[in-house]
Amino acid sequence: MLDPPNPVVDAATRLADCLDSVLRMTCSRCRRESALAVRDVASVHGRDLKLWRAVERLRCGDCGAKPATVELIEGMDTARTVRAVKTIRLL
Ligand SMILES: [Zn+2]
Repeated sequence: MLDPPNPVVDAATRLADCLDSVLRMTCSRCRRESALAVRDVASVHGRDLKLWRAVERLRCGDCGAKPATVELIEGMDTARTVRAVKTIRLL
């Protein structure tokens, strides 16, 4: 099977392949929203970690609860328009 020219990022993508993206999470307990650079997660847990493994480890900075939702946001820095930003639901 051939790889598509623009591989789609999903939960099985390694952090190394989406370092410029941002993880946005909403806390399941206090509803706090926070954003985390994938690059920072990779520097703590390693670049070979899969996205879904990273999502499992995310905790709210305020109350320590697991996130209710997690989205990966691509192209925040590079996109010329808001429409070019891609949001991928991970949880
Ligand atoms: Zn919280």
